[in-house]
Amino acid sequence: MSLVIVGSFNMDLMSRTPYLPSGGETVLGGPFKMGPGGKGSNQAVAAARQSAEVILVSMLGRDSFGEKAADMLERENIKTEHVFFHSTESTGTALILVDEQSENMIVVAPGANLCLSPLHVRKAEKDIRAASLVLLQFEINMEATIEAIELADKHNVPVLLNPAPFVEFNPAILEKVTYITPNKTEAEGLTGIKIQGEEDVLQAAKKIYKKGVKYVLITLGSSGTYLYSGKETGELIPSFAVNVTDTTGAGDAFNGGFACAIDLGFSVKEAVVYGQAAAALSVTKEGTSPSMPTKEEVEKFLK
Ligand code: ADP
Repeated sequence: MSLVIVGSFNMDLMSRTPYLPSGGETVLGGPFKMGPGGKGSNQAVAAARQSAEVILVSMLGRDSFGEKAADMLERENIKTEHVFFHSTESTGTALILVDEQSENMIVVAPGANLCLSPLHVRKAEKDIRAASLVLLQFEINMEATIEAIELADKHNVPVLLNPAPFVEFNPAILEKVTYITPNKTEAEGLTGIKIQGEEDVLQAAKKIYKKGVKYVLITLGSSGTYLYSGKETGELIPSFAVNVTDTTGAGDAFNGGFACAIDLGFSVKEAVVYGQAAAALSVTKEGTSPSMPTKEEVEKFLK
């Protein structure tokens, strides 16, 4: 079967600086790095490297970053029939500064990402109907995200919502969401509960579950993933211990890996383990998309 991902692309432009500049200040930085990013694209790469058939619905600008993005998506075997090019808006960019203490400052200019409309999503209705899962995040126009949820619901296709970054939204849509994967910060935003221990995670998961989601998966970084599906209590599935190089993109690797495992017919718990293996391998390497492991790497790791 196939996965349909409706989401963002951002070109990540990164420079290291000795410290983060304050207002009006110029700091000499370097080296400069550029690479593909955006949660929609990162999760598409994560899933495609697991050999899933991935169809991305996204909006790029008609500029050099847009061209680079389209080439990258083709190289990763992602289907780009529904990747559109906006005539005036720029391709999304993320300007990232990282200092010597690994503190960062990020400015995202979403550009074309905000111009993906419900009309564009409707063009992919045939693919949504045939998909095993529709995967969404919160980096594009909310109306387009809602349209994707409505279409998936119309055709009884499960929805995986990664509510990242956290934004205010109409909680009524959660009744049509099968799996939700907030990280700790996003779960706090969704529930207003400060998560400090396992009891808080359970209360937060219950609160989200009550809004109509079937499976709540709260990712807790190196502590693992808390899975809750309406019982008295949930289960903390521990992450894999690895040597960490760079944790950016861990959530994207998890979501892409989890979605593929669901596509392959794994149980939800097995899919969490698979997603966590993909995420663990991704944190051993630098970068987001480039750090996504292949299917062979995940299978070898799980042996
Ligand atoms: P995000 O990247 O969206 O903030 P998390 O930090 O919760 O999300 O990470 C998502 C998943 O990635 C976790 O559930 C875990 O399985 C894996 N992960 C994250 N950090 C580590 C780590 N340091 N070691 C091993 N696995 C990790």
